Amino acid sequence: MDLYSGHFNRLIDELAALPGIGRKSAQRMAFYIISMSDARVKKLAASITDAKANVHYCKICQNLTDTDICPICANAKRDHSTIMVVETSQDLAAYERTGKYEGIYHVLHGAISPMLGIGPGDIRLGELMERLKSDEVKEVIIATNSSLEGETTAMYIGRLIKPLGIKVTRIASGVPVGGDLENIDEVTLLRALDGRTEI
Ligand code: ZN
Repeated sequence: MDLYSGHFNRLIDELAALPGIGRKSAQRMAFYIISMSDARVKKLAASITDAKANVHYCKICQNLTDTDICPICANAKRDHSTIMVVETSQDLAAYERTGKYEGIYHVLHGAISPMLGIGPGDIRLGELMERLKSDEVKEVIIATNSSLEGETTAMYIGRLIKPLGIKVTRIASGVPVGGDLENIDEVTLLRALDGRTEI
């Protein structure tokens, strides 16, 4: 027997389909949304459709942005000869929060995982290789997670870049094994960056 109306159930289903949202949380959110004013609900719905319509990948680093080229890539004060390769935009945000990294980034939007059938062609690796054709790049810092997928990806990219004569480094393993970069404190992130070694 359905406890709630079809509309309400549909809202719960949509919310529960989001990552990290269980059925119970989805229900709590749905109740809250129904209790909100019409104006706030409209604002929330519009923020979702507007973000979807206007946010896309930076033409250079593939980070999420609402301009063609993101503010980091567009910033001439950043060191454009150093590219840090991360798995997600959240990982990029984690390093940006340290305020100490002056290079630019490349966001892969995933990691290679033979187990899940995710190959090099499924992440934004081709775009990285394209960037390396310019003489400007002197070092690529691979800051993928220290999970099996992250390590596999780091090794794969390392092998791909080394023949180009560009320095390739891997962040130190101050980052706990299996840990997502976005959940790691800034001191540990910086230690991992400072302790990077050539691969
Ligand atoms: Zn960018």
